[in-house]
Amino acid sequence: MKIMRAVLGVCLFISLGLTGCATLGKAVKVGGQLAGYQELESMGDSMEKSDREFTEEEKYYIGRTVGASLLADAPWKNEAQLTLYLNEVGNTLAMASSRPEMYHGYHFAALVEKNANAFACPGGFLFISTGLLGICQTEDELAAVLAHEIAHIIMEHPMEAIQASHQREAAASLVKFGLRKAGESQGELQQLSGLFDNVVKDVVKAVAQGYSREKEQDADLLAVEILCQAGYSPKALADVLGRMEGHSGYHGDPKVRAKKILETIETKGKTPAVYAQRDKRFKQVSGH
Ligand SMILES: [Zn+2]
Repeated sequence: MKIMRAVLGVCLFISLGLTGCATLGKAVKVGGQLAGYQELESMGDSMEKSDREFTEEEKYYIGRTVGASLLADAPWKNEAQLTLYLNEVGNTLAMASSRPEMYHGYHFAALVEKNANAFACPGGFLFISTGLLGICQTEDELAAVLAHEIAHIIMEHPMEAIQASHQREAAASLVKFGLRKAGESQGELQQLSGLFDNVVKDVVKAVAQGYSREKEQDADLLAVEILCQAGYSPKALADVLGRMEGHSGYHGDPKVRAKKILETIETKGKTPAVYAQRDKRFKQVSGH
């Protein structure tokens, strides 16, 4: 009788057309509740959770594995002064953005790679190639490149590249292995990375290849906002892109991007917030 009620509960949900992983999970859970079968109920609960979004902690581990994959192709430029500087500029930008907090914070590093490129991984890991560093002529231009990468992270572009089936697969594995609170030991990390295998492949592909023209434009426009908030010149992003002739592989067409950025600055009158504050302070004191 109990089994019949459980089966009826599951069938009712399915017959209502509520398919998909989360709803099937719900059906199994309700069926378990109706029948008084705790095991069935908790199985349904796990199935429901397997369709959920990744947590910030999981994004951190995914990003860490994606970053390790990038470092396998281009080594880290291990210079303490450069790393400290990148992190100072990068964190200043992040603090001025709508997403100042990140599980384990933001991390910035340079990669030894002659091609001009920059990468943003989930969880706040950002990389700039030595080739692109060489093209930047001012701190504002470096800040502009980093702001564009921070914008990709804020808008979750790397995570959006994950195929739904791979997301379900990884989430289901997490529930199964109960590793949501994974430790820092090498063994646990390897196990966790294994669960994210297909997810990591999706993200590495997206991070390395760049995004659609729309997403690149969205990242540029958000970068303009971040630069203004942090007190850097938003025009620096157009300036650095203008010097990237022959680097059309870098996050879309630099010329198209630079044109749109300049239009935005002109039409919306974008200037760093700090410029306005300085102007106001000066006018108040000088009487101009
Ligand atoms: Zn981009």
